[in-house]
Amino acid sequence: SVPLSYFAGVAKLSRDSILTKGTTYIDKMAGKIYAILFDKTGTITQGTLKVDKVVTKGISHEEFVLFLCHIESFSNHPIAISITNEFKTKVDTSSVKEVKEWPGKGIEGIVFGKKVIAGTKEFLGEKGVEVDIEEKSFLSTTVYVAVDGRFCGYVVLKDFLKPDIKDALNGLKKLGIKTYLLTGDKKEAAQEVASEVDFDGVFANLLPQDKVKIAEDIKKEAKNATVAFVGDGINDSPALAACDVGISFAQNASSIATAAADVILLENSISKILDLIKVSRFVRKVVI
Ligand code: ADP
Ligand code: MG
Repeated sequence: SVPLSYFAGVAKLSRDSILTKGTTYIDKMAGKIYAILFDKTGTITQGTLKVDKVVTKGISHEEFVLFLCHIESFSNHPIAISITNEFKTKVDTSSVKEVKEWPGKGIEGIVFGKKVIAGTKEFLGEKGVEVDIEEKSFLSTTVYVAVDGRFCGYVVLKDFLKPDIKDALNGLKKLGIKTYLLTGDKKEAAQEVASEVDFDGVFANLLPQDKVKIAEDIKKEAKNATVAFVGDGINDSPALAACDVGISFAQNASSIATAAADVILLENSISKILDLIKVSRFVRKVVI
């Protein structure tokens, strides 16, 4: 049977805005934690991106925005939400068909009878679209767009670190926990974050299955110690499930990520993980 103090622990955690899907995860967070792996967009960063620049090619600014907003209105990705919020274009959803989202890559569909693709440069490449004007700053996220097989421009989005991120990661370091950044975004964007927050390792350009592969390699190093993953996206779901403890957020996270996670933070703050560890350790001390 489960000792009573665990239920007190679960109750204490929920008062701290932390939901655990079972007492096992309290045990895992109370024991030795080898590493915590973090997604970037929406996890380390706020995920509410600001549009910084729009560059179009062979199409008007208005048309570009119209196509982009129509296709992105079918995605819950932070990038998509930021784009539709920023431009406030009136979207006629009935004119959008055959939408398919590719986690870690982008989204495609038919808009007003034309094939629209939005996502990474590599994603457009896979679809046979050559991107011949590239964003040079590299420090932010760029979404490239094609209409009917022709590259027609891009939008540059700036993201910002969550305010408590440096303190939270320093707190984890003081507990002897390694921290890693695992992102689907490109190397330069990952490095910009890594220049402000000190990680033990940084991995970029990852597809969902690549995040799992790296998590499994780190789990081998960890022996029996806990490896946790923190993420908010569909692309994080396989890694959330693969790690000992998957941690996600109640706000602005994909429902697939919250379903795959073991612990849900009701506040969008990474500092809550320190509370989770503290309460878990306390509960375990009481039991022993
Ligand atoms: P992260 O791991 O940092 O949260 P993702 O793996 O979710 O990032 O996405 C990786 C990249 O794929 C994004 O930086 C973006 O370029 C592209 N992408 C993903 N989803 C979309 C979308 N709905 N629209 C446009 N681009 C997208
Ligand atoms: Mg994310």
